[in-house]
Amino acid sequence: MTAENNILARLVELQGTNFEVTDVQVKEHEVVWRIEHKEPAVYICSRCGSEVKGCHSRDWITLWDIPFGGKRSKWLVKRARILCSCSMNVRVEKLFFRSSHHQLTQRFVNYIEQILCTKMFTVADVARLFELDYSTVYKIDHEVLRRLIQELKIPDPIHISVDEKSFKKGHSYVTIVTDCDLKKVIWVSEGNSKASLDQFFIVLGPERCRKIKTVAKDLHAPYAASCAEYIPQALEVADPFHVVKRLTEAIDSCRQELAVGSTLTAGKRKVIHGLHWVLRYKQKNQSKRNLESLDRLAEINEPLYRAYLHKEAFFEFFNFKPSEVKEAEQFLIEWIVEAFKIKLQGLTDFAEYIRRNTKILLNIVLTQRSSAISEGINRKISVIKSMAYGYRNVQYFMLKIMQRCGVLGAFWRPA
Ligand SMILES: [Zn+2]
Repeated sequence: MTAENNILARLVELQGTNFEVTDVQVKEHEVVWRIEHKEPAVYICSRCGSEVKGCHSRDWITLWDIPFGGKRSKWLVKRARILCSCSMNVRVEKLFFRSSHHQLTQRFVNYIEQILCTKMFTVADVARLFELDYSTVYKIDHEVLRRLIQELKIPDPIHISVDEKSFKKGHSYVTIVTDCDLKKVIWVSEGNSKASLDQFFIVLGPERCRKIKTVAKDLHAPYAASCAEYIPQALEVADPFHVVKRLTEAIDSCRQELAVGSTLTAGKRKVIHGLHWVLRYKQKNQSKRNLESLDRLAEINEPLYRAYLHKEAFFEFFNFKPSEVKEAEQFLIEWIVEAFKIKLQGLTDFAEYIRRNTKILLNIVLTQRSSAISEGINRKISVIKSMAYGYRNVQYFMLKIMQRCGVLGAFWRPA
């Protein structure tokens, strides 16, 4: 073999194999590598792995490799069909450099996997970058995630948060468990039933379940049943993120109550209807224009204006220190009493919810749990949902959450 051939073989990592590069053509947009068997030719049986001397027939196949010097890299590979003593049938030889599912070399697939695992590029980005089908890159992404999840070991959690997330326009749910110390998702399972969360505790095992000290969750009854069974020792904490979300929704339902079903004049109802976003923002974040809208609201409908101010007052609850649990409880009681006086159904319902769950709300103060982690993860999941052009299956969506918000795929390893 000439020195030149040797260098070419090393560039495509064929040195020391039964293949060699017999020609390279540099074209405008691609580099074409011709790859053939070394003489005297030896073929590897794809069934039993033994070496076979003669071949039945040969043909050319195309494989795509890692781009070379900014051009697409195309391999024209001479492939043999062989007859091996292990079988009666003619079969194609084993090409060790070919990946199993795609018209791509294995090293190109590894390279794509590595890029996807940086989490810096979407499937669509990578497909565009390498001029590949979206579906090809999607399959590679799905496969690498499936492989990495097999190797994943769930960390030992102490403080967890459990949440459900809808997708497919609210028709399907997944259950998400977050490690509050790692600030990462450590588990995702299908559905939002008791069994969905049970799975997590079963995989974790009784010993690690016993070490869990606190659990924050939305007041979803099946989750409560699962926690009662597997982690009865864990202190139940309301998730501040969900509490605030409910409060915001409560005020919005007050707005709708007045804008749609009330006896107010059409003009007033129209103004109230338009306050959707204004009522969502915190007072300190309002623009000058929004503040004017609030002044106008104070004139035309005092109850809704009071409800808004009362919502604002609620945020003080999160400022209490663990030593002030008594004061925090008194604060909640007074807040509930005031809420009932405003006499708007949405707010009354929320006050009822606070009254029923005072104990676990006070545990927020006791444990100083913040809403930042859930907020961050929910934001990321929304991005994942918007990024994918329709998740074809729930498994992929779940893996994607584990990758983008969780402990999966932080480091890529070859198969
Ligand atoms: Zn064989």
